[in-house]
Amino acid sequence: TKFEELPIHEHLLKGIYAAGFTKPSKIQEKALPLLIANPAQNLIGQSQSGTGKTAAFALNMLSRVDAALMTPQAICLAPSRELARQIQEVVDKLGQFTQIKTCLAVPNSWKRGVRIEQQIVIGTPGTLQEMLRGGTRHFDPKMIKVFVLDEADQMIQLQGLGDQTFRIKKALPENVQNVLFSATFPEEVQEFAKLFAPEANQLFL
Ligand code: AMP
Repeated sequence: TKFEELPIHEHLLKGIYAAGFTKPSKIQEKALPLLIANPAQNLIGQSQSGTGKTAAFALNMLSRVDAALMTPQAICLAPSRELARQIQEVVDKLGQFTQIKTCLAVPNSWKRGVRIEQQIVIGTPGTLQEMLRGGTRHFDPKMIKVFVLDEADQMIQLQGLGDQTFRIKKALPENVQNVLFSATFPEEVQEFAKLFAPEANQLFL
């Protein structure tokens, strides 16, 4: 399969080639048609780092948001600030030929009191929650269309961020597309994944 055969906008194809990718990885080939063609369908994916999963969910977020709306429409949560930064770099690189902007939501990366206008917010659950706290909301959570959770096993088992993640989820519309990636699926993560992304397509590579 070539990237041109996947449902990807040409502005994003330019970003993909600028990133040096010539053909989709297996996870990209399988996930992208599912995610982009079925905006209401959730996805649970098993994949290690090194498989190209970041670009897969990055391209989905970039495909789904409207650059003309100055408000967040996709959220990606990661278990650490460092990983959130790395994800932001990938999204920015792939989206460099679009008007889409990203916001890093980790401690000290944003200004309190200022509305967030970037279309994609990438961060850790604690900071996202602060951004959405009642009264001082920094963006309208009802505009979110895609909610991505990367490294769910780390997030839940190592960092204990499952509850916080759910609290954020509760603020989002019901028809959000939920996407969860995890390297491993011990029982606790399976249970979480079922609640986070009900009736999801499952991609186990
Ligand atoms: P990840 O699995 O997201 O941690 O990505 C692992 C590495 O694969 C990163 O360095 C990416 O830049 C690279 N990568 C992702 N997709 C592709 C692709 N389609 N072709 C070549 N390299 C890729």
